[in-house]
Amino acid sequence: MEIFKPMNLQRDDQKKSAIETTEKIKCLIIGSGPAGYTAAIYAARANLKPVVYTGLQAGGQLTTTTEVDNYPGYPGGVTGPEMMEDFKKQAERFGAEVRFGIATAVDFSSKIHKVTIDENKIIEAESVIISTGATAKYLGLEAETKYAGMGVSACATCDGFFYREKDVAVVGGGDTAAEEATYLAGLCRKVYLIVRRDVLRASKTMQDKVANTSNIEILWEHQTVDLFGENGVEGVTLVKKKGTSAEEIVKIKIDGFFLAIGHTPNSEIFRKYLETDAVGYIKTIPGTSKTIVPGVFACGDVQDPHYRQAVTAAGSGCMAAIDAERYLSEMK
Ligand code: FAD
Ligand code: NAP
Repeated sequence: MEIFKPMNLQRDDQKKSAIETTEKIKCLIIGSGPAGYTAAIYAARANLKPVVYTGLQAGGQLTTTTEVDNYPGYPGGVTGPEMMEDFKKQAERFGAEVRFGIATAVDFSSKIHKVTIDENKIIEAESVIISTGATAKYLGLEAETKYAGMGVSACATCDGFFYREKDVAVVGGGDTAAEEATYLAGLCRKVYLIVRRDVLRASKTMQDKVANTSNIEILWEHQTVDLFGENGVEGVTLVKKKGTSAEEIVKIKIDGFFLAIGHTPNSEIFRKYLETDAVGYIKTIPGTSKTIVPGVFACGDVQDPHYRQAVTAAGSGCMAAIDAERYLSEMK
C-alpha cells in the first residue's frame, strides 16, 4: 500500500537520505597510493584504526604502469599493480580498513574534521591524512592513450632507463621539461625538447643547463599533433610556426615521448581550508607533514612539487602517520 505524504514531509525525508550515515573515527586516510597505504601501515601499527578511502584509482598512479624498477626491496622489479596490492595487503595485515569511496567535501573548521564520502556519508575524524596525489597533464591527443606504456610517459625518472642510447622527445618549456630533458640527456643518444613558443618558461639556471647539454636540441615554436609507429612510438608529427605563412609539418623519429607540461595536484576540495602554492600543491610545515590545520596532514605527490616518486610518497606517508599519532596522543 502506498502511503501519501504531504510535500513538506517528502522534502525532509529527501534531505535526510542525502546524508545516510555519520561515523566517528580516529584517523582517516584519503587516497590509496604509496603515500596513503604507507600512512595506513604506520597508523594501524600505532593502533589508530585507520580507515582508507581509495578514491577512483584504487592503488594510485602506479596501477597505470607496468614495471617499477626503482622501488627498493624488489631486486627483480615489480609491476605497479602488484606492488600496490602488496602495500594494501600489508596495511590490512595490521588492521587498516580499506574502503572504496571518494572524498567529495571537507569541513576543517572545528577540532573534529568532517569529510563527506560519496556525497552520502560523513566521517568525523580526529585526524585526517591527505594523500590524494597529483595528475600529470597530457596534451589531449588520441595517440597519447594509444601509446600509453608503449613509448608515452609523463615521468622521465621512472621510465628514462628504458630509453638508454635511444632518441626521445620531451614536450614543455618549464622547469620540469628542462629538468627531464637534462636527465634524459644523460641516458639517451638524443633529446628533442619541443617548445610551443620561442622562449622557455624555465628558470635561467635550467635554461643554461639545457643550452650547455650537447645532445639536447630545442625545437622552438613546434606543436605536437600526432605520434606514429607500428607496435609503439616510432616518431612524432609536429607543426612548426602554426598559423603563420611559414607553417610547416615536421616528422621526427623518436622511441619515447615524454610529457612535461605540468601536473595538477588533487587538492581542489581542501583549498578552502589549507594553504596551497600557486599550482595547488598543499603546503606543509617544512620537515613535517603538518598543514596549517591542526590534525590535518598531507603526504605524497599532493604536497610535493619536486620529487613525485613512489619512494618519496611512501616516506612522507610514514611521516604523516607518525605526526598524526603524536598529535592524537598530545590531545589526550
Ligand atoms: P597516487 O599514487 O597518485 O595516489 C593518489 C590516490 O588518491 C589514488 O588512490 C586516488 O584514487 C586517491 N584520490 C584522489 N582524490 C581522491 C578523493 N577525492 N577521495 C579519495 N581518494 C582520492 N614513481 C616511481 O618511484 N617509480 C616509477 O617507476 C614510477 N612510474 C610511474 C609511471 C606512471 C605511468 C606514473 C603516472 C607515475 C609513476 N611514478 C613512479 C610516480 C608515482 O606513481 C607517484 O609518485 C606516486 O604514485 C605518488 O603516490 P601518492 O600516494 O602520493 O599518490
Ligand atoms: P609550468 O611552469 O607550468 O610549465 C609548463 C610548460 O608546459 C610551459 O612551458 C608551457 O608552455 C608548456 N605547456 C603547457 N601546456 C602545453 C601544451 N598543451 N602544449 C605544449 N606545451 C605546453 O610547469 P612545470 O615545468 O611542471 O613547473 C611547475 C612549477 O614547479 C613551476 O613553478 C616550476 O618553477 C617548479 N619546478 C621547479 C623545479 C626546480 O626548481 N628545479 C623543477 C620542476 C618544477 P608556455 O610556457 O608556452 O605556457
